[in-house]
Amino acid sequence: MEQAAIQFDRVGKVYSGNPEPALSSVSFEVRSGEFFCIVGPSGCGKSTVLNIIAGLDRATSGTVVAPKNVAMVFQTGALFPWLTVYENVAIGLKVIKTSEKKVAEECLKYIAMAGLADLAGKYPHELSGGQRQRVGLARALAVNPQVLLLDEPFSALDTATTEELHKDLYKIWQQTKKTVVMVSHSIEEAVSLADRIMLMKAGRIEQIFNIALSYPRREQEAAFIRHVQEIRSMFFK
Ligand code: ADP
Repeated sequence: MEQAAIQFDRVGKVYSGNPEPALSSVSFEVRSGEFFCIVGPSGCGKSTVLNIIAGLDRATSGTVVAPKNVAMVFQTGALFPWLTVYENVAIGLKVIKTSEKKVAEECLKYIAMAGLADLAGKYPHELSGGQRQRVGLARALAVNPQVLLLDEPFSALDTATTEELHKDLYKIWQQTKKTVVMVSHSIEEAVSLADRIMLMKAGRIEQIFNIALSYPRREQEAAFIRHVQEIRSMFFK
């Protein structure tokens, strides 16, 4: 049995002023090194799960086990506009007070891994949307988190850019062996990348799907299409 990186046991979440629970009795585990995706209609509780894992929010009932050392990539990159690519990536490392030499080594390693080697001195406004998301990814990886959290990181990008980023994210995942939890609004994106996909509805888990396809995964393949259709039929049921 592989080790669990994250455990939710009958987790509930009620926001004050909102009578409908955001989460009701949510129980699942994410295995160490796994690529785990969460999909579901808007308002079903995906971000709430991610925020609880990140420690940005608290469950109101149940038990959560998650490492403290997690890093999040947000939808918009959430970069500091007055800092260069290098400085944006370095900022998390400086907070954890690593030596200057170590900061430089780690930053350049992850800047290169994210495909940004030629852009280290640029500012966010000089970058494309895809490049900005790469900076967010490099910044998250640079602190060497136990779990990498991705909150719809590609939702604002065009299809070609998203596909390139999928390939690179897959490579990075293989290289770093990180546990990844990604929220996505795209079933195709989830099937392209995930080991398992958790479908949520109205604050509950509808089903968890195993995606036992080899990589690289192609959207035209029959097995890929079958997975997408199976999830879609549950999504809209
Ligand atoms: P998703 O990410 O799937 O769109 P969320 O996790 O953001 O869903 O939200 C789940 C539910 O909790 C929704 O009904 C939403 O309106 C509610 N909710 C989220 N955040 C808050 C908040 N800060 N206060 C009150 N209700 C909230």
